[in-house]
Amino acid sequence: MEDTKQTVGRFAPSPSGRMHLGNVFCALMAWLAARSEGGRMILRQEDLDPQRCLRENADMLEQDLIWLGLDWDEGGSRGGPHGPYYQSERTAIYEKAFQKLQKQRLVYPCFCSRAELHAAEAPHLSDGRVIYAGRCRSLTEQERQTLAKSRRPAARLMVPEETISFRDRCCGVYRENLARECGDFLVRRSDGVFAYQLAVVVDDAQMGVTQVVRGRDLLDSTPRQLYLYRLLQLHAPEFGHIPLLLAPDGRRLSKRDGALDLGALRKRFSSGEILGFLACIAGLTDRAEPVSARELIPLFAWNKLPREDIRLPAWLWD
Ligand code: GLU
Repeated sequence: MEDTKQTVGRFAPSPSGRMHLGNVFCALMAWLAARSEGGRMILRQEDLDPQRCLRENADMLEQDLIWLGLDWDEGGSRGGPHGPYYQSERTAIYEKAFQKLQKQRLVYPCFCSRAELHAAEAPHLSDGRVIYAGRCRSLTEQERQTLAKSRRPAARLMVPEETISFRDRCCGVYRENLARECGDFLVRRSDGVFAYQLAVVVDDAQMGVTQVVRGRDLLDSTPRQLYLYRLLQLHAPEFGHIPLLLAPDGRRLSKRDGALDLGALRKRFSSGEILGFLACIAGLTDRAEPVSARELIPLFAWNKLPREDIRLPAWLWD
């Protein structure tokens, strides 16, 4: 029988390129959070998007994790009891969950184009996010059939006027009103690929994950995911949304920051130096000295992590 008390953490990267320092920070924090509780670690490759996510990136990512000393107990090419661990191979599992939502009559086809969704009159939140105005929610069957002749619809989930709140290990209590701050959201794209929100919930639950540690950019996804856990009658894990690493001018890191991808970093630094640097900016150590991942396990504590996102020093780009 499975030990239900043991912490099960996971690292769930999207292998759309080489890992950058922000991904490494996330992998390290997820690994330390699980290992410091004596937990297991799963590697799940979130390669849902077949155009962007290549198997060679996933393989390289595994090699980078091994180089860093961030091991995992199941997942990736190593396999394990809850596989497959590549989202691209899990479509049948998502389909079942999708049908469960359909049976509850909460899913409807959405024919809106990207341009329509982002039109100026669409409701926007202060951070620029667009809330779906519900245009396709009330189409008649006749209208749906007519539209389906020229467009393949995506599938949206209806959300209620309800505030979902949870206590985050890193950010404290977070709440969001599903209807007002999010709107009906996609569970399947028009090309048939299941959406991240659905896949991540189904996977974390089926893989027995008890602790989700990831970047703060996903904090506002969590109420949607908690709603899905409820509809699918699945047990939700605890969440810790860690600070993001930013460029010196405060912008988010992107693939353009080639100097910070592991290909470039591995030429300049040892794994110990990279881990030592990340541990220091995470508040786990006072000085950026070379260190192994294992040596950091006893130093990890949630309350040491900074509350704010972290601006990286400019010399990293030199
Ligand atoms: N695959 C997502 C990413 O790389 C992370 C998803 C998650 O941790 O829930 O941004």
